[in-house]
Amino acid sequence: MSESLVIIGSGPAGLTAAIYAARGGLAPVVLEGLQAGGQLMLTTDVENFPGFPDGILGPELMDLLRRQAERFGARLLPGDVSRADFSSRPFLVEANGSEEYLADAVIIATGAEARWLGIPGEERLRGYGVSACATCDGFFFKERRVAVVGGGDSAMEEALFLTRFASEVVVVHRRHEFRASAIMARRVLDHPKILVRWNAVPVEVLGEQAVTGLRLRDTITGAEEDLQVDGIFVAIGHEPVTGLFRGQLEMDHLGYLITKESSMTSVPGVFAAGDVADATYRQAVTAAGTGCRAAIDAERWLEAQE
Ligand code: NAP
Repeated sequence: MSESLVIIGSGPAGLTAAIYAARGGLAPVVLEGLQAGGQLMLTTDVENFPGFPDGILGPELMDLLRRQAERFGARLLPGDVSRADFSSRPFLVEANGSEEYLADAVIIATGAEARWLGIPGEERLRGYGVSACATCDGFFFKERRVAVVGGGDSAMEEALFLTRFASEVVVVHRRHEFRASAIMARRVLDHPKILVRWNAVPVEVLGEQAVTGLRLRDTITGAEEDLQVDGIFVAIGHEPVTGLFRGQLEMDHLGYLITKESSMTSVPGVFAAGDVADATYRQAVTAAGTGCRAAIDAERWLEAQE
């Protein structure tokens, strides 16, 4: 199928790009990816998206964006991109291993995915007590003791959410100061069900069939101790989803797409928006903003080609 614009990804960046491009008459195709709606589908309250003074649930916000994009003629398809070829125009984007789309322009808004610790036991026990999503799995830890690893906003959010179920939440952080915003850090520090283990890094996930504990190493003394927990929630940040574009588009050493002064990647006609090209801000609202920018850039670029 030949399209003017294919948008890869359906988080705030992809859907905002879709709203703008659709209103611009481009009838974009949005390949939604495995996790339609992106990371906000895995979160609960979003308190800092402008326009929602009482907050809004992540999935609800994404549903609104989706409806807004469809209202103007964006076509949202449940496709996971399996291959992309940007070596010649029109560009080729393949979804689900077989469906091929030819596109005059492409916006990449594939976002980021959870980073893992890479310690023994972690991968083996994923789904058996090891998780990166409290909203998905927190329910299974009623009256249990769980650990959350990390010191950023995600870790704070996970820890606070888990207090709804767990008897105790231990936040394990490798330094003595949180990276998280002051308001989130304060909520965690003040919570009666949350304990913070400062200056500790996980070295092994313990358990045969399911998690029974987490081995920690003190970053100051080097001493090791076993923390008895039934669940471990890893919240140590995210990595950009750019594997498919390696070798075709310029990236930085962490794999984030490099854009020039506009949202254009190193290949003219291929644009980037949202977390996939943003190692710094990574907010829903900045993703939406760059989605808008990419759609306008793509529209202007397409016009200039005619
Ligand atoms: P982040 O801000 O990069 O924080 C990652 C945390 O994990 C840091 O505290 C880091 O420690 C720790 N860490 C990283 N690698 C580690 C390792 N191998 N072992 C142990 N600890 C490790 O990531 P994030 O919390 O996912 O947040 C990402 C962005 O989304 C941020 O801009 C954040 O503000 C935003 N966000 C906002 C909200 C909200 O506003 N409600 C919610 C979630 C996320 P160090 O501090 O020592 O580096």
